[in-house]
Amino acid sequence: MGVEARALTLASLLRDIPDFPSPGIVFKDITPLLADAAGFAATVDGLADLFVGRGVDRVVGVEARGFIVGAPVAYRLGAGFTPVRKAGKLPWSVEAEEYALEYGTDRLEIHLDAAAAGERVLVVDDVLATGGTAAATVRLLERLGAEIVGLGFILELEFLHGRDQLIRYEVESLLVVE
Ligand code: AMP
Repeated sequence: MGVEARALTLASLLRDIPDFPSPGIVFKDITPLLADAAGFAATVDGLADLFVGRGVDRVVGVEARGFIVGAPVAYRLGAGFTPVRKAGKLPWSVEAEEYALEYGTDRLEIHLDAAAAGERVLVVDDVLATGGTAAATVRLLERLGAEIVGLGFILELEFLHGRDQLIRYEVESLLVVE
């Protein structure tokens, strides 16, 4: 399947939920995409293909939907996987960072041994919205000495200009809402 046909198929498997989790937000529900065997495979393969051959040592997925997509992408790339989690969930010593969401603020944490100095890391999440989550994740990883290969998303909400917070990095999205 070509890139455009694949994008159309993937887009048809996303579900818009108006006013969730708060009024005015259109939540992009990826569960129909995850539930569709061909759609899920195309998503994982599509993201992995964008970064194959780039020496990715580790994929970092952001809680919680970034785990679902990031772990199989890591497997496909022959890389390890590391979770970035919300405050208080990781059991060992952490590095922490405050960040702004499209709806509210939160705090992200990563284990101190999540990346060795110079390790090449790919960040994966489902949706790039304002970019606050991704930017905080990159800050955490760079504090640990990681080299950011890039960031990969299923869907980018372009009108929220998340890329503006990530201008130093390669940002790839399988789908873009303008
Ligand atoms: P942001 O930090 O604004 O780029 O938000 C990105 C994070 O929030 C991702 O982990 C997404 O899962 C989630 N998110 C933000 N906006 C939406 C949305 N409209 N639909 C689904 N998930 C969203």
